[in-house]
Amino acid sequence: MTDNALLKRDRSLFIGGGWRASTGDERIHVTDPSTGLPLAELGGASAADVAAAVTAAVNAFPAWSRLPGRERARVLRDIADKLMGRREAIIDLLMRNNGKPRREAEIDASDAVATFAYYGDLAEALDKRQDTGVALPDPAHAGKTRYEPLGPVGMIVPWNFPMVTSAWKIAPALAAGCTIVIKTASFTPLAELIYGDIAAEIGLPAGVLNIITGGAAAGAALTADKRLRKLSFTGSNAVGSKVMGAAAQHVVPVSLELGGKSPIVVLGDAAVEDAVDLIMAGIFFNAGQMCSATSRLVIDRKIADKVMARLVEKTEAMKVDSPYADGAEMGPMTTQGQYRAVSKTFERAKADGLKCLTGGHVLQRDGFFVAPTIYDDVPTDNAVWREEIFGPVLAVRRFDTEEEAIALANDTEFGLAATVVGGDAAKAERIAREIEAGHIWVNTPQVPYVQSAWGGFKASGIGRELGPWGMDAFLGVKHITVPATK
Ligand code: NAD
Repeated sequence: MTDNALLKRDRSLFIGGGWRASTGDERIHVTDPSTGLPLAELGGASAADVAAAVTAAVNAFPAWSRLPGRERARVLRDIADKLMGRREAIIDLLMRNNGKPRREAEIDASDAVATFAYYGDLAEALDKRQDTGVALPDPAHAGKTRYEPLGPVGMIVPWNFPMVTSAWKIAPALAAGCTIVIKTASFTPLAELIYGDIAAEIGLPAGVLNIITGGAAAGAALTADKRLRKLSFTGSNAVGSKVMGAAAQHVVPVSLELGGKSPIVVLGDAAVEDAVDLIMAGIFFNAGQMCSATSRLVIDRKIADKVMARLVEKTEAMKVDSPYADGAEMGPMTTQGQYRAVSKTFERAKADGLKCLTGGHVLQRDGFFVAPTIYDDVPTDNAVWREEIFGPVLAVRRFDTEEEAIALANDTEFGLAATVVGGDAAKAERIAREIEAGHIWVNTPQVPYVQSAWGGFKASGIGRELGPWGMDAFLGVKHITVPATK
């Protein structure tokens, strides 16, 4: 049973260390996607609320940024512990509000904990990186480098992995010494508001972390605030380019984690069962609502018939159901808008005469359920091959040569992720090196380890999250030259 206190939040803005009610008119209607029924209703931040949150972050910055990294590390580890303590509530909200099957919600909850624990370690290690010597050619001078937090930062996140995308921003920014205003996605704010509960419980200094609810208007107000020293955005390309435009107005750095149309390349010597499992996980996890979804299968003709037969068989055996139903493997689309967008894709594919091997329709039941879908021999100029669908829809093409495989894999404006599957590890890795993508899995499942880099080439974004790069994105490099000591 979902904890009612986590659904009924009359005061949904966490600003300056406490909960406040919105002063605006926007109402956020949160839905249970498994039923299509209302789940909660919250107030969205007004422009005045956004400004108050930024003021709180600005005021909190001097003290927070001056704390030694080891003290910020203690706070990050505390947050990790408190997240662990609320694990069941978080899992339940992700199942209820996102429609994630339990196993997937568990992965998200664990990822958030791991992210805070990891950046705790990096916060501590930051102290040792300060004042590193730089050899200068003039013996009269000595140089050193410091890494300074950029300042109060504005963050905007999407709805597909609420706890994870926000952890990937909040934890490294806190570790770096930045203060934060983060706007949750309007469809899925419930789980992320738990970060506010935790901040209050551990006594995080007021204004270090501010959380606001709201949609496009609140997001636009945040990106327009000149007092922010960086904008960090995860979401669609359409909105990402607006955020970049806003950042350009007052010349602040921007990190963008945007869309994808990632390939999974299956070579002729791949083990059939392994290939099928990796293909399915790459497109059906989170009902395909993943920026990194490997939504284009590029497969060696020699092995294609065998793999496709098994793929269709296993896809049709998948249990698509409410996360609370026994054995559910894939849940609904998280939003009604996404459900409609995927249904439109089905209609368009039908009109275009695409060869549908399985699925291609919504499920006739309450909630936002669609069938896992596979289109074969999709022309490279078709939308199913080119556009990010953000649903469980796979486009397939066969290849005869390695060059053709690489060309097909790179035949996209995006460059976020890729998977290569093959029996000859050296060959698979050689192909991985040729693919234009920021994160590539070779014969391994799509696990974005917090130690690794996350982000895209081409239109998939600017900058990298996770790993040391994730924290460096919130740090500015300062060089100091002093007289050399004799
Ligand atoms: P979206 O761009 O519609 O919304 C993202 C966020 O931007 C939301 O919080 C929204 O309220 C806010 N927003 C909307 N208009 C705004 C404006 N004018 N100014 C400022 N903020 C505004 O994206 P979505 O539908 O929530 O998420 C899906 C997209 O996110 C997909 O394209 C997906 O690939 C991408 N994504 C990327 C990554 C990554 O790591 N690269 C991760 C997850 C999702």
